[in-house]
Amino acid sequence: EPSLLHCCHPLPLEHLGRGTRTNIYAGTLSCREEEEDGGNVQYSTREMRVVLKILDSAHRDISLPFFETASMMRQVCHKHIVLLHGVCVRNLENIMVEEVVEFGALDLFMHRKSEHLSTAWKFLVAKQLASALSYLEDKNLVHGNVCTKNILLARQGLDGDSGPFIKLSDPGVPITVLSREERVERIPWIAPECMDDTKNLSIATDKWGFGTTLWSVCYNGELPLKDRSLAEKERFYEAHCKMTPPVCCKELAELMQQCMNYNPPERPFFRAIMRDINRLQEQSECHTHVSTCQAI
Ligand code: ATP
Ligand code: MG
Repeated sequence: EPSLLHCCHPLPLEHLGRGTRTNIYAGTLSCREEEEDGGNVQYSTREMRVVLKILDSAHRDISLPFFETASMMRQVCHKHIVLLHGVCVRNLENIMVEEVVEFGALDLFMHRKSEHLSTAWKFLVAKQLASALSYLEDKNLVHGNVCTKNILLARQGLDGDSGPFIKLSDPGVPITVLSREERVERIPWIAPECMDDTKNLSIATDKWGFGTTLWSVCYNGELPLKDRSLAEKERFYEAHCKMTPPVCCKELAELMQQCMNYNPPERPFFRAIMRDINRLQEQSECHTHVSTCQAI
């Protein structure tokens, strides 16, 4: 059960953006801490900057599924997954309270810094995401909304010595409550098997989302099929079309295609994906090394 935060004091609020039936704010959480001091209980208040994800009041009917997401997030503890502090119900508002991830969404960051992103940087992002999803796979937990905007950046990793550090955000409102149109909008992030029936949501769904995310990362945060109409997006899946593989990272392109297989059981295990990424990373480091040597 997600812990209910009574001490939520989310003012003043800074609006960070809109999500699916949600608004995201930065706020402050006041926590009362108990300390035992020689038999006396002392109370102190600690202030913490947090992110508040507030469900739109017009969608109060889906507060239960919204809190099911919170419940799933409370079961996970991984360095590459956002920490959920708890939930809060305030003036009939349903709120998830999460840690602040400093550099925000990966797609926006990649758009801003596209000239500075190396293949090694992209490999690290892919590897960290695969490790988070492998952890979820081991725990038999489904995320259901893996996409570049739901990857947040805690460290930019552009200074050379330390690489990027990502955190996978919560999936938000479960896809089981989305309308067909909202699901079509999510093509090609949402797995094809979830278009006709959201009951098909499974760990394999996250593999498809991982594949689309790899595509987007290779293309510096570009949104796949962004100029297509809803009808065109639907046709894309109906005709079993494939995304154009990125030429910049050939190795990741291969992995992307294995994940974006229209037959869910044929998608690889995240453990195998991690092994592949490690192997490819070693190879590409090897190549960089060789070319540097030749240049000298
Ligand atoms: P969805 O369920 O569709 O993902 P959402 O409610 O999660 O919707 P997003 O669009 O993912 O909303 O997030 C909105 C914006 O809020 C993002 O662009 C990001 O910049 C910011 N944001 C979300 N979570 C955090 C966080 N933990 N730390 C910092 N910024 C965040
Ligand atoms: Mg999100």
